[in-house]
Amino acid sequence: MIRVGVNGYGTIGKRVADAVATQPDMELVGVTKTKPNYEAEAATRRGYDLYAALADRADDFAAAGVGIAGTLPDLLESVDVVVDCTPSGIGARNRAIYAAHDTPAIFQGGEDADVADASFNARTSFESARGADSLRVVSCNTTGLARLLAPLEEAYGVEKARVTLVRRGGDPSETGRGPINDVLPDPATVPSHHGPDVNTVLPGVPVDTAALKVPVTTMHTHSVNVTLREAPTTGEVHDLLAEESRIFTVPEAAGIDGAGKLKEYAMDRGRPRGDLWENCVWEESINVSGHDLYLFENVHQEADVVPENVDAIRALTTDLSAAESIERTNETLGVGLESLLTSDEDARDPITADD
Ligand code: NAD
Repeated sequence: MIRVGVNGYGTIGKRVADAVATQPDMELVGVTKTKPNYEAEAATRRGYDLYAALADRADDFAAAGVGIAGTLPDLLESVDVVVDCTPSGIGARNRAIYAAHDTPAIFQGGEDADVADASFNARTSFESARGADSLRVVSCNTTGLARLLAPLEEAYGVEKARVTLVRRGGDPSETGRGPINDVLPDPATVPSHHGPDVNTVLPGVPVDTAALKVPVTTMHTHSVNVTLREAPTTGEVHDLLAEESRIFTVPEAAGIDGAGKLKEYAMDRGRPRGDLWENCVWEESINVSGHDLYLFENVHQEADVVPENVDAIRALTTDLSAAESIERTNETLGVGLESLLTSDEDARDPITADD
């Protein structure tokens, strides 16, 4: 069993903890919190051992009625790998603590690439993790782009990808980021940093990105244009993407018109927290004109990196192949949404509902 600790139990950490606890070859030893709030209570109720991230606050937990199993150093001594899910920039500060305990570490995409030995995406860079002591799972947007561009590069060659990222302003729990009522170029400099970040896990694929922030909390939307070296048909690109286990092609017949209904669909399908681990590509948006491919995809920022963290744990601690790890992760979590519905011309009539 791979013994895993999660340092930082927020949006990403709680999801990684749940995913780790589901794996047959992993044991979730514990999670840390900086303070005994509602998330600390929820972790305790889930049966997870809680550790104080900051030793000088350990007494606060007992005072609030939440028991702890120890502090961060105790957790680090008990695990084979720690997954750092602390806010951007804190992970880099934690690096020395992990090194002092000789504990291999996985960081998140909010950290700079040099925080770890290698950046990680299971589809594109599993093998580059071999021999590493630390990995950085790339951000939600970068993960989504790498999953999309890798099969296109392999099948047709990518001459140039141009992607506009319409980014959610904050996560649902990030009340401090709003309310806002604007559309912000963010960063205003073009191209944005996301393209170079894609190249940390998918080198050699030319990709330019521009990014905006909008006042939604549900998902990111990517408007994608890829100039391909070959000229496949629209149907061929559809079939290629539909074959990818971490891409969900959303049929027009489903009547899903945006992130709200996508999340509703995830909840209807029984997904924990309404999480969408897959890229969601609108089928009717896929269009090839000559060598130019166009499509829209949505990425659930809170969820798509979760299976990637599970695979990163195996890449760091086992000799399993990428395919074996991805298959195990997908099977245990239930990654790989498919719709029973198919899109055809008849399905193109808009679906209406009165309520
Ligand atoms: P978050 O704020 O929701 O959670 C971070 C948690 O870490 C909080 O519970 C916070 O109390 C705790 N924390 C703060 N300081 C700590 C410390 N010193 N030690 C231990 N815990 C500490 O943040 P998040 O959204 O989960 O982001 C975590 C990382 O994941 C960041 O690098 C972020 O860029 C990346 N990421 C976030 C998203 C997203 O959309 N939320 C998507 C992909 C990647």
